[in-house]
Amino acid sequence: MLHYFLPFTGYPYEGAEIDCPVCGSADHARIAHLDRRIKRLSTHLCHHCGLFFTNPMPTEAELERYYAETYRAEYQLAFIRPRKTHQNKKWREAERRAARLKDAAGLDAPGRTLDFGCGSGELVYHLAGLGHEARGFEPGADYGSFAQSRLGDETKSSVHVGSWREMTFAPGSFDVITFLHVLEHLNDPMAALKKCHEWLADDGVLYLETPNMQDYKIKGFDCFHFAHVLGFSGSNLKYAAKEAGFALLHEDWGTSLFLVKSGDPRGKPLDYDLAATVEKNRADYQEGVTPLAYAKKHLKRIRRLVGEEVKQGR
Ligand SMILES: [Zn+2]
Repeated sequence: MLHYFLPFTGYPYEGAEIDCPVCGSADHARIAHLDRRIKRLSTHLCHHCGLFFTNPMPTEAELERYYAETYRAEYQLAFIRPRKTHQNKKWREAERRAARLKDAAGLDAPGRTLDFGCGSGELVYHLAGLGHEARGFEPGADYGSFAQSRLGDETKSSVHVGSWREMTFAPGSFDVITFLHVLEHLNDPMAALKKCHEWLADDGVLYLETPNMQDYKIKGFDCFHFAHVLGFSGSNLKYAAKEAGFALLHEDWGTSLFLVKSGDPRGKPLDYDLAATVEKNRADYQEGVTPLAYAKKHLKRIRRLVGEEVKQGR
């Protein structure tokens, strides 16, 4: 565990050198070699689509092990059960997202929903309560089983513990797939998006949301951390969605999209400007924040993290 906190050391993984996992371009270069914990983490910027990605990229086996065993404890300091503050925040999010599904995606009548990477299961539970046949899956054993227990005797809805690669839903199984703040954790985003396309009914809606690397006030190595192996901006997320066979139904903001299959008559074109995204990301992240400025800004947070870590005896 301590491996994830000691500054100036690397993370416990080997990984493999890759080209851009969204557009496949070999034209990319390192833009940061530290992350927000001042640990060694090499991040590349793709010069074709403007995606940030960890390189060397953790392998599938390394990611699966990390999510099954380490992620929640390391990232949210949650051991065994999700923390109460986390649960409260997720309840509010689940309500807001269910409302967005009704308004922006027209999910009125009970339907078949899937939450891709459902965490502690608040959205699944909330949608089940609204009468939907709500499913979800989660690779983290602790959060996944917590989500399962939350559903209790509910028979129409369910949560599986496992990675997306282990899921075997039949094509066209879902009217809505929610894919919220999960894509940035995956080393093969295009395969995951194509899987969503396959699992979605022809008139289904994919609700896709990631953080936006252009939203951070101070841009630099401070914005990178091990769990987010990819960093999207509006344009390259739309490009990825289009390449996976989707069109735009509605855009809440650049990295919060409601998508339909490209043949769906409701679909509008996904517009993007990759060259401008590359330029902007490069300009904003090249200088970045200096290690000294970072340390000053985060001294309190680091003290708290280290303190809690010591208290937990790990
Ligand atoms: Zn790219």
